[in-house]
Amino acid sequence: MNGMSVKKAVYQLSRAVPFGLAARLCRRHFVFPFYHVVSDEKLPHIRQLYPVVTTSRFRDDLRFWLQNFQPAAFPEVIDLISGGAPSGGKPRFFLTFDDGLREMADLVAPLLQEFGVPAAFFVNPAFLDNRRLFYRHKISLLLEKLPAFSAAVRHAVALKLGQEDASKKLLESVLRKLTWRDEALIDAVAAIGQVDFDGFLTSQKPYLTSEQVKTLWQQGFVIGSHSYDHPLFSELSDEERAAQVEESFRFFEEKLEISERIFAFPFTDDGVQAAFIRSLREQHGVAVSFGTAGLKDDVFPFHLQRIAMENPSFYSAREMIRAEYLYHFARSLAGKNKIGRP
Ligand SMILES: [Zn+2]
Repeated sequence: MNGMSVKKAVYQLSRAVPFGLAARLCRRHFVFPFYHVVSDEKLPHIRQLYPVVTTSRFRDDLRFWLQNFQPAAFPEVIDLISGGAPSGGKPRFFLTFDDGLREMADLVAPLLQEFGVPAAFFVNPAFLDNRRLFYRHKISLLLEKLPAFSAAVRHAVALKLGQEDASKKLLESVLRKLTWRDEALIDAVAAIGQVDFDGFLTSQKPYLTSEQVKTLWQQGFVIGSHSYDHPLFSELSDEERAAQVEESFRFFEEKLEISERIFAFPFTDDGVQAAFIRSLREQHGVAVSFGTAGLKDDVFPFHLQRIAMENPSFYSAREMIRAEYLYHFARSLAGKNKIGRP
């Protein structure tokens, strides 16, 4: 079996295991779950990408976290990376939310305050104040509209994408694979299909404003960078990576007056070289950075891996954490929980 099918098998098996047993097998004293959004609306810019967590699920998740874990404040995270394990009590959790969506101010922060749970929000300066749409959100909007495209529009889109087949299925799979470098192509497809990204930005205002971010910061939430405009870092040149980090923090300092440097990789740090991760700390002055590799341990103590909560197969934090615990346990038997880096 390859790595992916082992993970699938363990995830499947986890459904039959009581949570307490999984927790005893894995014995983690600190977990870092992450979400993107909480909403009871359909969110066309998101729902083609991953499941949208509803407010009722999020409340259930918060109850689960508080029953089984103790909420950590950010200083405890800083202690952890300098070698201090939390003393006594339940294992700790620290929540984080990526992409700077408006629901952070509308829904998430008030719920976190109600439950007394600290958290960090990671934002992209390019999208703040609804200046621009994230290219993945553009793709989701295109996929929402694709079923309604006429045959003539589909053919024009296929031509633009360099495809002979204009079937919905093929167009969907091509659109899903477009990257940060394809943004002009994504915009051209939208023009053909009359999908109005600017109109969506103006009417929906999907992202936080700078003022809202400042308010969240004043309320005690941690605000960090999620890069300037959310490319996949393993596909960038060294110069592009450094610019993404520096430009985002320059915006933080100049426009938000936040000088603390906390960073969460957009998408994943998979395939990013150790030298770059080291440079986050040594050249860019980042205090703590985050990846998305689940429960694995990184080779750099200041670089913490987080667990994705929006999985299409699991509908609660309890199921998701139980699966990750068991997967971590299975990997520990094989001695495979450290991340290897090129
Ligand atoms: Zn993101």
